[in-house]
Amino acid sequence: MTFLFHSDAARGAIFAQAFARELPEIPFSMDPVGVDPDAVRYLITWTIPDTLARYRNLEMVFSIGAGVDQFTMAALPDHVKVVRMVEDGIVRMMQEYATMAVLSLHRQIPAYRAQQAQGVWRALPQPQAAQRRVGVLGLGVLGQAVLERLKPFGFPLAGWSRSPRQLDGVTCHHGADGLDAMLAGTDILIVLLPLTPDTRGFLDAALLAKLPKGAALVHTGRGPQLDHAALLDALDSGHLSGAVVDVTDPEPLPSDHPFWSHPAILLTPHIASVTQPDSAAQAVIANLRRHRAGLDPVGLVDRQRGY
Ligand code: NAP
Repeated sequence: MTFLFHSDAARGAIFAQAFARELPEIPFSMDPVGVDPDAVRYLITWTIPDTLARYRNLEMVFSIGAGVDQFTMAALPDHVKVVRMVEDGIVRMMQEYATMAVLSLHRQIPAYRAQQAQGVWRALPQPQAAQRRVGVLGLGVLGQAVLERLKPFGFPLAGWSRSPRQLDGVTCHHGADGLDAMLAGTDILIVLLPLTPDTRGFLDAALLAKLPKGAALVHTGRGPQLDHAALLDALDSGHLSGAVVDVTDPEPLPSDHPFWSHPAILLTPHIASVTQPDSAAQAVIANLRRHRAGLDPVGLVDRQRGY
């Protein structure tokens, strides 16, 4: 039974060392062509490789990243388990990014950058954290971790998910009925939803209009969730005051896209959180041990739901 690593060689070398040290009984390969296809039981990859049909004994496919929206699920036989990446490195980086973004918006960095460009030295009225309500769309691994990291700042915190959740110190909303109340009470909205048929195009003009005037957006989900024109309209009309955007559609943006130069947008190239090979290898090894003990892996994807 072979574990096939189908991604970049530098990360693969780190995985290879971890497997040799901790799971020597499972042969590790980085050669999708040279490997005995019948031996491949486990595959880690970013996208489904062309060679997939050769691996007739495949049991599990691991995503190298936190999402699985890049997988064509129909290409995978029904019995194959799909596992997204849940590892400490991704979680820590997303906590850092979301904290950076919320504090930048709270402390009005986009406005001060614009003032700096014009040589203006002027203090703006500054609301206290207790008056700045932060809401997170998506209360999964990352949404919960981000909320936990934001707690010490004293922002009133809220979150929204598909099914009901109870989180200490967080006002939780769920389902279509809970969305409007959540949006109406959110000054900084963080998006940490997976990309599914339900969330594609979700951040549209109607949703942004439900945020209070002066609210701001932190988009760290997936690019196709956001209607770019709707965000630009909301910023240009003054309904929204700023946005931190890490994911776009397409990536990268064309050179003439208005996001590049918009004074109220802080744009980063999909770097909010990146899989860290050391901790990712540990997470995959732990999941293989769980699988062999008859347990579900951490991050098992519900293939019907799409996340
Ligand atoms: P997760 O643990 O699967 O959590 C997903 C959350 O979204 C759950 O709370 C889920 O609700 C909620 N949700 C899904 N569909 C929904 C819907 N239609 N309506 C309401 N709530 C819905 O995922 P995660 O690990 O936290 O990651 C979230 C996403 O972050 C990833 O899928 C990826 O798109 C993004 N991400 C971005 C970066 C970056 O660098 N920008 C890095 C990593 C991840 P339930 O609780 O009811 O299931």
